[in-house]
Amino acid sequence: MPGPYVVRVNGDENLPEKVDVVVIGGGIIGTSTALELAERGQKVALCEKGGIGQEQSSRNWGWVRISRRDPREVPLMAEALRIWSGFDKRLGRDTGYKRAGIIFACPDDKSYEEHESWGKNLEGYQLPSRMVSGAELDALLPGGNMKLKGALYTPADGRAEPQKAAPAVAEAARDKGAAILTECAVRGIETSGGKVSGVVTERGRIACDAVVLAGGAWSNLFCGLYGIDLPQLKVMNTVLRTKPLEGGPEAALWSKDFAIRKRQDGGYTIASGHENIVDIVPKSFRYALNFLPALKMEWSSLSFRFGGRFFEEARMPARWNMDEASPFEYNRVLDPKPSLDMSNKAFNGLKAAFPVFNKAEIAQRWAGYIDVTPDAIPVISAVDQIPGFHIATGFSGHGFGIGPAAGRLMADIVTGRSPVVDPTDFRFSRFSDGTKVRPLSGF
Ligand SMILES: Cc1cc2nc3c(=O)[nH]c(=O)nc-3n(C[C@H](O)[C@H](O)[C@H](O)COP(=O)(O)OP(=O)(O)OC[C@H]3O[C@@H](n4cnc5c(N)ncnc54)[C@H](O)[C@@H]3O)c2cc1C
Repeated sequence: MPGPYVVRVNGDENLPEKVDVVVIGGGIIGTSTALELAERGQKVALCEKGGIGQEQSSRNWGWVRISRRDPREVPLMAEALRIWSGFDKRLGRDTGYKRAGIIFACPDDKSYEEHESWGKNLEGYQLPSRMVSGAELDALLPGGNMKLKGALYTPADGRAEPQKAAPAVAEAARDKGAAILTECAVRGIETSGGKVSGVVTERGRIACDAVVLAGGAWSNLFCGLYGIDLPQLKVMNTVLRTKPLEGGPEAALWSKDFAIRKRQDGGYTIASGHENIVDIVPKSFRYALNFLPALKMEWSSLSFRFGGRFFEEARMPARWNMDEASPFEYNRVLDPKPSLDMSNKAFNGLKAAFPVFNKAEIAQRWAGYIDVTPDAIPVISAVDQIPGFHIATGFSGHGFGIGPAAGRLMADIVTGRSPVVDPTDFRFSRFSDGTKVRPLSGF
């Protein structure tokens, strides 16, 4: 079965003729933006080329975390934690959100000190997070036999179900009047007097005053059509899901060898704690210099691979006409093949650390392409070149948890409302205004 099962959202039959805002992309970012806008009385159409939430937003680990984030994301993530805590009630649907805590394991003094020092980023927030060790840590990791110096434990963190969340948000946006259009790729935008005046979809035109591109891994391609250079590449991560299992940890746990999160169905989502695959593609060369600082930081965790993906992307047109099928229509769901090797390694590491997992049965594996920016923080911004055009993308492996707040910030920017947090660090122009663009912590 390709990808995880995602709660199905049936798209609307009719295309609206005119709306205030078109949102491109039905992942957690696009659906959250659409919801926020619709709740503010904006007329919204959300266009998704495949089904709601079928790319990154359903394939992720389901971690909702502020811990170990890049400090520039902390204020927005604090807002996200506030939103998640009342989200199900607001949506009238279940996202599986639970504040169950997240643990980052520290095997030695060096990593203990690094995590302890990261904790300073939460000073001033009413969010519990602390270093733990000894009996307290053992109690958090029942049945474990890892030899740890300690761990960063953040009870304020939690989890939600990726296969439920974006669909629940999309349905709630529809309750508030948004049109939800699936199998409806946006081929391009139209302008009048230099400003956004509409979009062309595979099903026809929608007039609008503003567009939000929340296209995940496809955003670079879309922007390229307008000469807008969004530096963005992809890394691939493989996930394994087990059948329900008794006796494993309740809090999610990150260690170098594996990362685990208990699922609502009682199973576990398991992945490598730090290994990712980078498919070399033509744009890898184009953006090599932009990504150099990030590569230096992440070098040991990346496996570079040259293969079919290079040729797929090389064949993908960079330009197309509005009356012909766009590349978005040729690939409805980005569905890379999982790496058995990496997920087996993670599973074996987990079994050695928690013998109870020797009883766990594998239910499914899948992979997902993570879209990354050179500084590993997103773009949530208007784009000066085309008034009315906005980008919310590049969440670099941590967009699921922050998604609801990113949607709020994007809606603030579109509607001219005072922003929920200072959006300066997320501006698109940082890539061209001389800013030193680099990650402040790892992916
Ligand atoms: C394996 C894995 C593990 C991860 N773990 C976590 C985690 O534990 N916690 C966390 O916070 N984050 C995690 N992430 C990252 C997180 O999943 C992403 O940052 C987040 O889902 C991005 O959401 P999005 O809406 O920007 O993109 P996506 O979910 O990829 O959605 C983009 C959508 O846009 C659509 N689209 C693109 N172009 C067009 C077009 N022209 N017309 C119409 N539709 C279009 C696509 O079809 C797609 O559905 C993980 C990601 C992966 C892959």
